[in-house]
Amino acid sequence: MSAPARLSIEGVTVAFGDVSALSGVSLEVPAGDFLGLLGPNGSGKTTLLRVISRALAPQLGEVKLDGEDLRRYAPAELARRMAVVPQISVPTLDFTAGELVRMGRSPYQGRWGVETRLDREVAEEAMRLTSTLPFEGRVAGTLSGGEYQRVLVARALAQEPDLLLLDEPTAHLDLSAQIGLLELLHRLNRLQGITVVAVLHDLNLAATYCRRLAMLHRGRLVSLGSPEEVLTVERLREVYDAETLVRPHPLTGRPMVVPVPGSEGAFPEGPRPRVHLICGGGTGAGLLRALHVRGYPLTAGVLNAGDTDHAAARELGIPVAEAPPFSAFPPESMEAAGAMMEAAEVIVLTDTPFGPGNLPNLLALSKAQREGKRVLIVVPDPKRDWDFTDGAAAALRSAVESAGAERVANAAEALAALVPHRPV
Ligand code: ADP
Ligand code: MG
Repeated sequence: MSAPARLSIEGVTVAFGDVSALSGVSLEVPAGDFLGLLGPNGSGKTTLLRVISRALAPQLGEVKLDGEDLRRYAPAELARRMAVVPQISVPTLDFTAGELVRMGRSPYQGRWGVETRLDREVAEEAMRLTSTLPFEGRVAGTLSGGEYQRVLVARALAQEPDLLLLDEPTAHLDLSAQIGLLELLHRLNRLQGITVVAVLHDLNLAATYCRRLAMLHRGRLVSLGSPEEVLTVERLREVYDAETLVRPHPLTGRPMVVPVPGSEGAFPEGPRPRVHLICGGGTGAGLLRALHVRGYPLTAGVLNAGDTDHAAARELGIPVAEAPPFSAFPPESMEAAGAMMEAAEVIVLTDTPFGPGNLPNLLALSKAQREGKRVLIVVPDPKRDWDFTDGAAAALRSAVESAGAERVANAAEALAALVPHRPV
């Protein structure tokens, strides 16, 4: 086998009629890299793979394999260096899985296609690695999508490539087959030094297995680097128009991307006032999340560390005035909350219970209201106890209410009061 392959993609530009598919994409793929190509539907991933595999000639730019222009390779020579696993399509021909895999040997077989023992051994090994031997004799059309996908990978491996290109190879696989395939690619990359370039839809699989990621957006390369560098909340918002949380995987430290529900189409036009939330015990988490995904600047507190709302605010990156776990609020926490309330335009009080420990939040709210802040109050359910201060909290609450606070019945109403209706 020859050395691992290195790719240089230089200023590649492709248009189909007036549809621009790739605009000036330049990208170095060093020998031995495991690169994940990411991007929303239609961002140009397949087009880029087709250019790299010479299935499509770009209008501008070029691709070099080990410093040599791709166009200078003879077809069989190229097929011995590079193999492609295309995006799956329905198999139409009546070949068996074994026949399909042995076709991967054709670049080694000269003009008459004489199959040697070595060819059969390499093909069998490729089927063993992809767990496709059990259906070697089955006609491809009778295989499930996942089985057929693995046969296509086996055929590519039978080519003994130095560079392996794959287009959404896990799209039809169940979870264990997805992991199995990526583990296989990882081994081929690590142990045999095969350079891998794979279009992957699943950001978490890509982050887990790829050495580097490249992200395409509307035909342009918008980010290239380690998974940590590429997968950020801001970039996913910009490129995928999606709200996510990105957290390190507890075992690997690689980024994990988790969707934030309820964020679709959630961006109202116009100004978003700064909101401070007085909450606790989970009464504020939903509202914090809903306002956060709508782009509202937020603060919260005082909250005890370890409180559910404290954890939610921290997860969302919302600044919190905090106090130690299970303790009364110390003066420095109240000072921090006071500054937050001063900076806010609206203060929301949820139906959180009050005891002596968090009572200072109500005093601070009352003070902020006297200074002219808009206050929104979620009225507590009368059937539930919420005042554990011998009436002090209830007295403060009604004082704030009679001083002109807006009353709402629940978090959803609070949200509606804060977020202007979108024009239809
Ligand atoms: P992706 O693989 O990221 O989903 P593609 O590379 O398939 O995206 O497509 C990029 C853009 O080019 C899309 O707008 C797509 O409609 C267009 N496109 C791709 N192939 C063709 C083609 N053969 N003819 C016309 N338009 C095409
Ligand atoms: Mg595609």
